[in-house]
Amino acid sequence: MIPGKWDAEAGVVVVGFGGAGFAASVAAHDLGAEVVILEKAPQGRHGGNTRVAAQGYLNTSSADRAAIYLNALCGPYTVPEAMVRVWSEEMSLNNDWLAELGGDPQEHQHQPVGIEFPELPGSDCVHKFHDGPHYGNSKTWECFERLVSERPIEILYETPARALIQHDTTKEILGVRAEQDGRTINVKARRGVVLTCGGFENNQQMIRDYLPGVPYCYTSGSPYNEGDGITMALSVGADLWHMNNYAGPTMALKVPEVKTTFSMKPLNPGSELPGGMIVVGPDARRFADEKFHTRHGKIPINGRWLPMIVPCPMFLIFDHTLFSAGPLYDKKRGSGWTQMVERYDWSTDNRAELAKGWIKTAPSLGKLAALLDLDATALETSVTQWNNDCAEGRDARFDRTMMLDPVASAPFYAIELSPSMLNTQGGPRRNEMGQIIRPDGSPIPRLYSAGELGSIYSYLYQGTGNIGECLAFGRVSGRNAAAEPTWKC
Ligand SMILES: Cc1cc2nc3c(=O)[nH]c(=O)nc-3n(C[C@H](O)[C@H](O)[C@H](O)COP(=O)(O)OP(=O)(O)OC[C@H]3O[C@@H](n4cnc5c(N)ncnc54)[C@H](O)[C@@H]3O)c2cc1C
Repeated sequence: MIPGKWDAEAGVVVVGFGGAGFAASVAAHDLGAEVVILEKAPQGRHGGNTRVAAQGYLNTSSADRAAIYLNALCGPYTVPEAMVRVWSEEMSLNNDWLAELGGDPQEHQHQPVGIEFPELPGSDCVHKFHDGPHYGNSKTWECFERLVSERPIEILYETPARALIQHDTTKEILGVRAEQDGRTINVKARRGVVLTCGGFENNQQMIRDYLPGVPYCYTSGSPYNEGDGITMALSVGADLWHMNNYAGPTMALKVPEVKTTFSMKPLNPGSELPGGMIVVGPDARRFADEKFHTRHGKIPINGRWLPMIVPCPMFLIFDHTLFSAGPLYDKKRGSGWTQMVERYDWSTDNRAELAKGWIKTAPSLGKLAALLDLDATALETSVTQWNNDCAEGRDARFDRTMMLDPVASAPFYAIELSPSMLNTQGGPRRNEMGQIIRPDGSPIPRLYSAGELGSIYSYLYQGTGNIGECLAFGRVSGRNAAAEPTWKC
C-alpha cells in the first residue's frame, strides 16, 4: 500500500549504521545516489557491533584461494558457488577500496596471524587488517564513520525501521516505515532499500527458535540488534538462511542492570591467575575444559566442530585465593559493548560486585551449594575430584592444562554464568547481487542486504570475516541499489 504522504525520501535508504551500513551508503553515494541512513540507536550508541568489535577485517590475498577456504569453512552446509565467487573477489578488494577512499589499511602485526582453521585448504589467503596505526578501541569504526561524515549522507538517529513498504501488485519495496519521536514516518526509497541492521543477538525469542543448544543467550555486542531486519524481511516474503550459526557460545556474567555480558578473566583462555576455579552445570558437575580456546564458540567433537555445550545455569565456583587476586572482570577498553559503551567500573577487590549479589559467597561448599540450589554432595565431589587432579598435575576428565590450582581456600564463591555471543550469522537469504530473495530464489524487487544480517557464513567462521563481509557485500548491495531505476507507481 503506497502511503498518502512521505515524510522523507532518498534514492537509497540504508537501515542500520554499522560496518555494512557504512559500506552500502558510501558505495551508493559515490555512484550518484542520494542516501539516507535510518539508525535505531541514539547518536553515540550507534555503530552496532562494528563499533565495539576487535576492529579487524579480512582482506584475502587471492580470490581463488579465498573461494577454496570459504567452501571448506562452509563444509557440508554449502553456499551457492556464485555467492562464494562474489565473496572471494570482493574480499580481496577491501583494502584497495578503503585506501582509495582515504583509509589507512594496516595489517595486524601480532602473532600468530590468526588463521582460525589453518588445516583447511586455502587458509593461507587470510590476512587481517585494521585502520590506522592503532588496533582496537573502535579505530576502524572511526574511519568508517569519518568516511560517511565526509559525504552529504543524512543519518536519522533514534529512528528504528519498523516495516518495509511494499507495492501490492509489483511487490517492489518502495520505502520504509520507521518510528521517530513516538510517531510513524514513511521514508521513500526511490531506487532501493538496503537492510544492514545486524543480527538477532538481543532477541530471546529468536534465540530460542533458531540457535542450537541454548535456552537463552546474551550479547557482548550491540543490544540494539534485535532481529528487526529478519522480521521486516519475513513480512515481505523473504527466505532465511544460516539461522543456526552464530559466533558463540562462550560463558559470561549477565546481570539485569546491564544489557550486555561481562567476560570473566579466569575463563579467558590466555590468562593464568592464582587460585582454584571450576565451572559446573545444574548437576553440580564439570562439563568442559574451562580454559579451552574455542573457535568462535565451536569445539572439536568426534571430528566435527560443534557449538560448545552450555548446560544452563552454569556456575563458576572459586576459592578465596582467586577472589583476592584482583578484579575478576577485565574492564580495560579494547572491544565489547560492556567495556566500550557501558564502561562499567568493576571494583579492584570484587567487593562491590559481592555486595550487589553478582558474586555469591559461603563459608563452605555445602552452604554455597544451598545458595545456588545445587546438590551439595555433587558439588563437594566435583571439587574433590578437581583438587585430586590438581595434586596429580593432570585434569583426568577434560585435559585442562591451565590454572591447575585446587579450589581449596575458604570462603568459597560463585558467579552464575550465561551463554554469551559476539554475533549471529543468520537472516534473510541473499544472492550474489546482494538482493534478498524469496524461498523460490526470486529477488524481492529493490530490497538488498549486507553484513551479519543474513551473513554468508553457514558453519565455521574465520575471525575478521564479518567486518570483511560488511565491506564486501555492503559495496555490492550499495552499488546495485544505486543502479536501480527510479520507481514510478
Ligand atoms: C566484541 C566483539 C568483537 C568482534 N570482533 C570482530 C572483529 O574483530 N572482526 C570481525 O570481522 N568481526 C568482529 N565481530 C563481529 C562483527 O563486529 C559484526 O558481525 C559486524 O560488525 C556486523 O556489522 P553490521 O554492520 O552487519 O551490523 P552492526 O555493526 O551490528 O550494525 C547494525 C546497526 O543497525 C542498527 N539497527 C538495528 N535495528 C535497527 C532498526 N530496526 N532500524 C535502524 N537501525 C537498526 C543497530 O543499532 C546498529 O547500529 C565482533 C563482535 C563483537 C560483539
